Amino acid sequence: MRKMLSAILLLGIAAILPAQQTSTTSHFDGNSWWAHVKFLADDSLEGRDTGSEGLRKAQAYAVEQLQKAGAEPAGVNGFYQPVRLNQFEVDEAKSSLALVSNGQRTPLSFADDAFIGTRATHSTVYLEAPVVFIGYGLKIPEKNLDELAGLDLNGKVVAYLAGSPADIPTALASHYQTAVERWKSLHASGAIATITILNPASMDIPWSRISANRNHPSMDLADPEFNETPGLQLGVTVNPASAERLFNGSGHTFAEIAALGKDRKPLPHFPLTVSLLANATVVSKPVESANIVAKLEGSDPTLKNEFVVLSAHIDHVGIGAPINGDRIYNGAMDNGSGSALVMDMAASFKAHPEKLQRSILLLLVTAEEKGLLGSKYFAAHPTVPPKSIIADVNVDMFLPIVPLKVLKIEGIEESDLGARAAAIAQSMGIKPIPDPEPLRNAFIRSDQYNFIKKGVPAVKCDVGFELGTPEQKIFKEWLTNRYHAPSDDVNQPVDLHAAALYEEFTRQLLLDTANAAARPQWKAESFFRRYAGD
Ligand SMILES: [Zn+2]
Repeated sequence: MRKMLSAILLLGIAAILPAQQTSTTSHFDGNSWWAHVKFLADDSLEGRDTGSEGLRKAQAYAVEQLQKAGAEPAGVNGFYQPVRLNQFEVDEAKSSLALVSNGQRTPLSFADDAFIGTRATHSTVYLEAPVVFIGYGLKIPEKNLDELAGLDLNGKVVAYLAGSPADIPTALASHYQTAVERWKSLHASGAIATITILNPASMDIPWSRISANRNHPSMDLADPEFNETPGLQLGVTVNPASAERLFNGSGHTFAEIAALGKDRKPLPHFPLTVSLLANATVVSKPVESANIVAKLEGSDPTLKNEFVVLSAHIDHVGIGAPINGDRIYNGAMDNGSGSALVMDMAASFKAHPEKLQRSILLLLVTAEEKGLLGSKYFAAHPTVPPKSIIADVNVDMFLPIVPLKVLKIEGIEESDLGARAAAIAQSMGIKPIPDPEPLRNAFIRSDQYNFIKKGVPAVKCDVGFELGTPEQKIFKEWLTNRYHAPSDDVNQPVDLHAAALYEEFTRQLLLDTANAAARPQWKAESFFRRYAGD
């Protein structure tokens, strides 16, 4: 009893001291950051949807701030790198979904049961095909997992539960759950369409909100080199509350599947007795957008030709279904917060020109919300030589909604960039932790992933929490109520001190990486090392 008490006291002291130290060394006060967030999240910018006037206004503001800070243009047209996209929208009045069993047709309601996803459905299609349940739908050779083995999927629709088994390491699971990787093995098996059953255990937002925005147009990069799902005719997303009817007569229930999926246990695989009947009418049109690229040049004559990228997406989801009478999805934290940090960082390096040996590339990408498209385009067509990019520090929705005592570092164990981020956090009295919620798949859900796939070590850091703490509840509530909702606006409580401390951390990480003797390296055992080709 006594021992425990003194341990608690010691912990308490340890938590207080470093916070006092760091507040004296900060280059940031939170106020300029908040001013930028307020501009970007203003109703007049209408949620910064890709291709919209609101996003163009946000980008013009960002360019002005970067110029003011003395950053040099490093795009194609000055600060801008044009990105050509196509937009896809389902005309639901001319579309339908139904399950067919023994000649009986059961219509599915788009609002309540299932909808056609335009990320996977890029042209009008009519199909009727049997459905096979394939568990999590994963083929992961590194772990001898092949959920497609022994199933006849040729010409079939495959249904899977979003998620992965617990014995697959997070990064590996994330990688194989990307649309492109998942489709590679499904395409090879002859499947023609997918049904994704959302996993009730890992849904960030409730079905009602997902469904309310289902008709929001999707986008993809226009250039055919970026078509990652050749042969995929249709993608359908199913409400777990309606999933039971897929399993009728199969000898299994969705309740049983969901219970296994909750604990990430292995799932059975079997043909269902239903066929999917789909009539999808898709309308498409071209969209023009752009990334913004700026440079802070290093001082070393050789090393200045190498770049540490600081990336953040500046787009958000625009105007959507009203919630409490509000239709503007302002995106203050997602990702006004990261965009504002990029502007602050440019200004800070100008005001305090510590010797940067390597150069820093400031990248504000478009179309992140459409599937990481702006960063995908930049990673494929960088405005500096590809091999000169040594690291990506990505900032997306870092959520300074509680004091910064714990820092979640995605990629912490993958490279020495992750190790450096952890060491810097520790030196500032902040506890670095890996992602405590691997089911959310965060490692592949923001722009760093496109750099990783090009072999560039990357990290994404967020204000974090430990499991079972009151902070966990605050984050959970934020995701449920504000994530991709109109209430992610400037009327929410934020912790300006946490924002400033996070900026200080990011600044130190950029400086140390720009000035280190060697480029960051993937760890020998990291799965992602394969992309570096060494
Ligand atoms: Zn988002």
